[in-house]
Amino acid sequence: MSDFFNQVSRRKFIATAGASAGAVFLKGCLGNPPEPGSGGGTANQSTTQPVANVSADQQPETTKVKLGYIPIVESAPLIIAKEKGFFAKYGMTDVEVSKQASWGAARDNVEIGSAGGGIDGGQWQMPMPHLITEGKITKGNKPIPMYVLCQLITHGNGIAIADKHKGKGVTLQLAGAKSLFAQMKSSPAPFTAAKTFPAVNQDFWIRYWLAAGGIDPDADVKLLTVPAAQTVANMKTGTMDAFSTGDPWPYRIVKDKIGFMAALTAEIWKDHPEEYFAMRAEWVDQHPKATKALLKGIMEAQQWLDNFDNRKEAAEILSGRNYFNLSADILLEPFMGTYDMGDGRKINDKSMAALYWKDSKGSVSYPYKSHDLWFITESVRWGFLPPDYIANKGEKAKALIDKVNREDIWKEAAKEAGFTADIPTSTSRGVETFFDGIKFDPEDPEAYLKSLKIKKVNI
Ligand code: CA
Repeated sequence: MSDFFNQVSRRKFIATAGASAGAVFLKGCLGNPPEPGSGGGTANQSTTQPVANVSADQQPETTKVKLGYIPIVESAPLIIAKEKGFFAKYGMTDVEVSKQASWGAARDNVEIGSAGGGIDGGQWQMPMPHLITEGKITKGNKPIPMYVLCQLITHGNGIAIADKHKGKGVTLQLAGAKSLFAQMKSSPAPFTAAKTFPAVNQDFWIRYWLAAGGIDPDADVKLLTVPAAQTVANMKTGTMDAFSTGDPWPYRIVKDKIGFMAALTAEIWKDHPEEYFAMRAEWVDQHPKATKALLKGIMEAQQWLDNFDNRKEAAEILSGRNYFNLSADILLEPFMGTYDMGDGRKINDKSMAALYWKDSKGSVSYPYKSHDLWFITESVRWGFLPPDYIANKGEKAKALIDKVNREDIWKEAAKEAGFTADIPTSTSRGVETFFDGIKFDPEDPEAYLKSLKIKKVNI
């Protein structure tokens, strides 16, 4: 186990005594009102009664499940599947979607499962399901096996920069900002950037962007973990120079005129893997048909979301008091691919918007194993996981991915729901290209690491 995750676990363990009381309180306070069956269907349907309109061989073993989400656009398929009745359509009439106070709280809640007052699964940054499976970020390093079942979204994330740095070259390409970073590095207040959880997507996006511009994220800036909602407040008071998170937060700082967006993740890596739906393996093994029913509901929600005629309604549902609790306008423009970057730059391109079912490279929903491998490889790049994971063409990483990634269940669910035409023919999406020209070939993760100038791993 890497020192990094030992530290994370220890730090968390120390913080847990104080935090758990808050987490318990927040559960009641932030969660949605307990209105079972509000997504359609019959409330409190008995698990033994067959669900109407679902064929006998596809009757779910239970109609009840508790899924966690974080109020960013990544969670839309879960919320829409509930609110538009797609879960209920497949027999899951009692799905509770439960707002999580932070990524750490989501992790704590999946550790205990719904039986212990937590959650059975939900929305995750990557590779959280793999790290939880290996016990790298759990209490006492206890392994809690999890399955990755589908990807929820691509795009919808960005890098936000404080207003005071406007016009100083802080943009997608950082060549013009070298002197700013150098000057701040030697000052008492180094460039401070936040992500919402260490060693996962949003940490990787800001690290990739900085390193591509010649800025070492470990040596040249200060990187902190701050919950998304708090980053806006910190940026207002001037203690935060940048943060990396999901919409609506980056766009919100533009609207609030406290900052601008240097880059969308869609610019860093078009059609990139983003957040995923994953559950406790134990729940899935006990409820294989209910798992597929959940997946079918999510798939229908993803297709519904990708019809841009539905995006206004989607923004209204998500922005509601029970969910994100903000003005629908903040969601709608980025949802339509219309980004005012706040520094004079405007993007108007639906292919850059949050996409849920399909993108220009194929399926968004299908969980490509090659993308899991990129997340593991990037973890090795920054010293979060030891290099043996990617030795021998990624042998150890691939063994872990084969255990966690259940693309087989995704394919079965897609087939049963009649989405056969949208099933990819390979679980590798092949060679990926980043905005700086760097390529990731899933057949040779070591070559990718060798091609990168700034990294922590010695390779
Ligand atoms: Ca994200």
